[in-house]
Amino acid sequence: MELYKNNQLKIYNSLSKSKEDFKPLTEGYVGMYVCGPTVYSNAHLGNVRTFMFFDIVYRYLLHLGYKVRYVRNITDAGHLENDADEGEDRISKKARLEQIEPMEVVQMYTVDFHDVLKNYNFLPPSIEPTATGHIVEQIEMIKEILDKGFAYEVNGSVYFDVLKYNEANHYGILSGRKIEDLIHNTRTLDGQSDKKNPQDFALWKKADEKHIMRWPSPWSDGFPGWHLECSVMSTKYLGEQFDIHGGGMDLKFPHHECEIAQSQTCSGIKPVNYWMHTNMLLLNSQKMAKSTGNYILPNQILSGENDILPKAFSASVVRFFIMQANYRSVLDFSGEALIAAEKGHSKLMEALKYLESAQAGKTSSFDVQSWVDACYAAMNDDFNTPVLISNLFEAVKLINQMKTNKASLNAEDLALLKSKMEAFAYDVLGLMDDTTDNKSDKLNGAVELLIKLRKEARDNKDWALSDQIRDELAELGIQLKDGREGTTFSVN
Ligand SMILES: [Zn+2]
Repeated sequence: MELYKNNQLKIYNSLSKSKEDFKPLTEGYVGMYVCGPTVYSNAHLGNVRTFMFFDIVYRYLLHLGYKVRYVRNITDAGHLENDADEGEDRISKKARLEQIEPMEVVQMYTVDFHDVLKNYNFLPPSIEPTATGHIVEQIEMIKEILDKGFAYEVNGSVYFDVLKYNEANHYGILSGRKIEDLIHNTRTLDGQSDKKNPQDFALWKKADEKHIMRWPSPWSDGFPGWHLECSVMSTKYLGEQFDIHGGGMDLKFPHHECEIAQSQTCSGIKPVNYWMHTNMLLLNSQKMAKSTGNYILPNQILSGENDILPKAFSASVVRFFIMQANYRSVLDFSGEALIAAEKGHSKLMEALKYLESAQAGKTSSFDVQSWVDACYAAMNDDFNTPVLISNLFEAVKLINQMKTNKASLNAEDLALLKSKMEAFAYDVLGLMDDTTDNKSDKLNGAVELLIKLRKEARDNKDWALSDQIRDELAELGIQLKDGREGTTFSVN
């Protein structure tokens, strides 16, 4: 029997601001949409936290036996510099500044994004659609909203009429905002905008001459508004109503609010049953910002090439660290905290390794079934990974006692503990046994040391020793290559 039948998952729904029993629309199936990155710069660590959390949601749903369709888009057009539909398209701007094609910008940063996700052991989503791949569908949705009377065209641009929508609906339902406050707090744009009201948002923007990304439409040569793609692609792949929609909490307003307004206008029903939002990430207790230098790229954490952290950390340690905090709390990223996480992570990995060859005793001194129940209870409680990790450490304590014969498990309990420890650590949390990486790091270090000694021998004109090092390494299948930049090596 599928595990989900015995596990009532509870999800904190940002819409109701409370934990609710999770009931998928179709038993056994889950549709999940997560807003993906705008690919105009390197993958951001804050985004990595968000996508890592939804990776764990995806992994846990799969572990419970659900069939999941997980859609995470790539925004490759239409995301303007600010939320008031003003400024340049972020991708167009980057392309103009670097004098390359917008699609080169998109390609470069999509590759970077995938590279980061692969390094951090993310499962790929079921579908990863792009905004530019769905221009036709976006134009169709704009026509539908216009036909229903909830949008208007001005000078080749089309805007969503927020006040009209709010007459029969609540614009602000997700973020808890009231239209009166929005009207009161929005400064007027001094006639710079074609909008009837500053709260209205663009569905289609006419492209000015310098705007290089443009498509023909009934209204003008232009490009879709950023909010539209998510309504279009979630409806196309998950239906008019689906189970889970996720994203960083900075997307709640206006992005997700606009998604709800667009989708609900077309279908007449509430598009999403459970809205989930991750909290933000700080670096050394401060907001991350390139301009202040308080900034690090996800791959720089792994390589150690940065001025922020004292050393390099493995992807699994970073995952472990991020999962020690609840996704709805602010996470403070720092070298000190990562060093502490690294210690905890290696204790967990040692315990998992010991389990591979642990011997069963005649009796059990630990109630493994209650421990298993506690692990599921933690994850069923709105994916509470910090509580799950503390449960895993209960087991680590037991395993360490087993090493010194202070505790024992019978064969059945030992097998259960081993399978659930591995399932939660590797399948659900996505941790990796990176000790093999450590081993190759150490071997690389040893070869580097020999290269250094050979250089010293050559500097001392000790050609016999220098040749001996080169030849004996070659016999082991390690080729040294002398170049202008120094000596490198390759392993055959
Ligand atoms: Zn979105």
